[in-house]
Amino acid sequence: MKIAVVGTGYVGLVTGTCFAEVGIDVTCIDIDQRKIDNLRQGILPIYEPGLEEMVTRNVDAGRLHFSTDLGAAIKDCDVAFIAVGTPPGEDGSADLKYVLAVARGIGEHMNSYGVIVTKSTVPVGTAAKVRREIEQALEKRGAQVDFDVASNPEFLKEGAAIDDFLKPDRIVVGVASERAEDVMSRLYKPFLLNGHPIIFMDIPSAEMTKYAANSMLATKISFMNDIANLCEIMGADVNMVRRGIGSDARIGPKFIYPGIGYGGSCFPKDVKALIKTAQENGYQMQVLQAVESVNEGQKEVLFNKVKKHFGAELKGKKMAVWGLSFKPKTDDMREAPSLVIIEKLLAEGCTVSAYDPVAVTEAKHSLGDRITYAEDQMEALIDADALLIVTEWPEFRVPNFTVVSRLMKQKVIFDGRNIYDKQELEQAGFAYHCIGVRTGH
Ligand code: NAD
Repeated sequence: MKIAVVGTGYVGLVTGTCFAEVGIDVTCIDIDQRKIDNLRQGILPIYEPGLEEMVTRNVDAGRLHFSTDLGAAIKDCDVAFIAVGTPPGEDGSADLKYVLAVARGIGEHMNSYGVIVTKSTVPVGTAAKVRREIEQALEKRGAQVDFDVASNPEFLKEGAAIDDFLKPDRIVVGVASERAEDVMSRLYKPFLLNGHPIIFMDIPSAEMTKYAANSMLATKISFMNDIANLCEIMGADVNMVRRGIGSDARIGPKFIYPGIGYGGSCFPKDVKALIKTAQENGYQMQVLQAVESVNEGQKEVLFNKVKKHFGAELKGKKMAVWGLSFKPKTDDMREAPSLVIIEKLLAEGCTVSAYDPVAVTEAKHSLGDRITYAEDQMEALIDADALLIVTEWPEFRVPNFTVVSRLMKQKVIFDGRNIYDKQELEQAGFAYHCIGVRTGH
């Protein structure tokens, strides 16, 4: 089989590389010439554990190619994935201009039957728009080519993307013909050998499944943050509550960690897009509207604790920040809560020294030289008046607190991810603030 993956970002690059890994001939296409040139030299545009080795291995094996030439790749491929971005438009709805531009390009070049698959997260009805766009392009050039559209939303998690792709909980595929179902079954067969299920459904349901999944996960996070904020007010400990409810099999232990709000390139935009889709169709997603507003508030919770602790003395304080990316094991800074927190600290006249294992280059696009970037986590602490834990990278979990306290000017920790033991830190003389636990400060 031969496939093309159009859009070589997070999803496209992981998708293309993983298909190549199981022996399929893959061409990854992007309009960004520099990205493609870099990839040809083995330089990846993103950090994702294990991806670099896998790209190199498959390029060397001659199964994985990178190109800007959509036409050449489309001509003889069996399946073309559309994996370009679907950023939020000004009103929150998903902007489909990149998806439809690719569809047009496909129609301008395809010569034989193929399945055109939307892998980007797209609202219900998009596959139908893709179909129309391709048909119009074919008509324009007077070509008659048979094709199918399909929807195959992607559920990979940044930071664990390869594992998620190779060993998926499930693969969701929306199709409208037996022929397309057959092609997609053959394509995914290597991933199903270990019992991972493929769920076929109609196309609108597949498109909706992705939004429903992300919205449910975002709901769990905002729900738990709301409970955490109430715990703090009432003198309960959300860490205990979390264990208490997570042990109920109907609720489960995953995705109920309180923190400083969800970020990244998916949850914020997908929640907004689903709210917008509903509004456009005369329905209000009341739960999701609340999910979003809790999340906006939650991004400020850690800063508010800093402000409360230092009061009028906040100006001129040096803040150490551990973690910049929106979650561990990725350099993705899109909608990262760190940006909100750091901007607020800077606006109060603080200086910020940040450390992140991989996200500094990305962070510099937004924060530039307005903060300093430490070479390692301990360097960030030198003379700091407080430490803020913003991303729960594994290396932050058990630091040597004797060294930490020696380096800092004041022993104050604001733990936005609840990774430390309150009692232990207070015994070590730290003022410790976390989420959802009353600290008495
Ligand atoms: P991204 O911004 O990392 O990558 C998109 C790529 O598409 C860019 O490299 C861009 O240059 C390229 N592109 C744009 N227009 C193009 C065109 N006309 N032809 C060729 N290439 C073009 O985006 P991403 O994070 O990979 O997300 C892609 C889609 O997948 C989005 O809809 C997103 O919601 C969805 N998704 C993302 C994740 C994730 O974790 N990042 C997970 C699941 C689904």
